[in-house]
Amino acid sequence: MTGLVRLAGLCAVFATMLLALSCGGGTESQSDVVATTVQIGALTREVAGDRLTVHILVGPGVDPHDFEASANDLRQISGARLVLRNGIGLDDFLDRAMKSGGARQVVTVTDGITVRRAADSDGGRGDEDPHVWHNPLNAKVMVDDIVRALSDAYPEDAATFRANGDSYKATLDETDAEIRRLIDTIPPANRKMVTNHDAFGYFIERYGLTYVGAVIPGLSTQGEPSSKEIATLEDTIRREDVKAIFAESSVDPKVAREIARDTGVRIVDDLYGDSLGDPGTEAATLDGMLLANARKIADALR
Ligand SMILES: [Zn+2]
Repeated sequence: MTGLVRLAGLCAVFATMLLALSCGGGTESQSDVVATTVQIGALTREVAGDRLTVHILVGPGVDPHDFEASANDLRQISGARLVLRNGIGLDDFLDRAMKSGGARQVVTVTDGITVRRAADSDGGRGDEDPHVWHNPLNAKVMVDDIVRALSDAYPEDAATFRANGDSYKATLDETDAEIRRLIDTIPPANRKMVTNHDAFGYFIERYGLTYVGAVIPGLSTQGEPSSKEIATLEDTIRREDVKAIFAESSVDPKVAREIARDTGVRIVDDLYGDSLGDPGTEAATLDGMLLANARKIADALR
């Protein structure tokens, strides 16, 4: 009798352990590939199709400039065959995360892109701008890098990755042409951009817009403008007759709103700077996000 009770007790303990193992705190099953940012994740899913699972560290609506990996992220990183990263200072959190257990292979997927530097207020060379994906031609280079990385790690599916990559690069070419059509509808004198942080340099360069200034100085979202910097930006906005201020879906638009109010300029507060749209929305893909931004910019500046 005692033995039976003991056995039953043991079973209960064992069942609890199993339950804890299977549902423990929403544990996600191990993914094949980890992508540091939502943009790299979206491109990787285009290339991988249904062949691989992708875990994204910085999901939609999350600010990569201010990110730390969770316990589940650390597990995904150390268990993945491949980690894909931006590598231009946007995902330094990966280096911190890997101190507690590295991935088997880490590949930078911005190789081959000409990296721009931010305008430096002292006229010197500013920091390297990590927001490369805002030019669809750069996104095509990233697709090539991703095809190569996935094919090296999973050679049995290389032909599929190549075909998916080629198909998505054609989509990005169409996106590029469509954005140009949209920007062409803006009177040339109105093609001026004031943004929340300096995230749109590659877009601005590609489509011949003019960068007037950013609310948060610099390439990061971390930092706050001084009252002198705000006053200077407001003067510039009035002098340049800027038509709109563009804030972002993933950054608090409080100061941008104040500047818009002071200058009487329209504010668009849902551009995708560092993020993509939630799954299922039109901006959940990189091409969809670029088009959504271009439509909002053209509508506001026309
Ligand atoms: Zn950014």
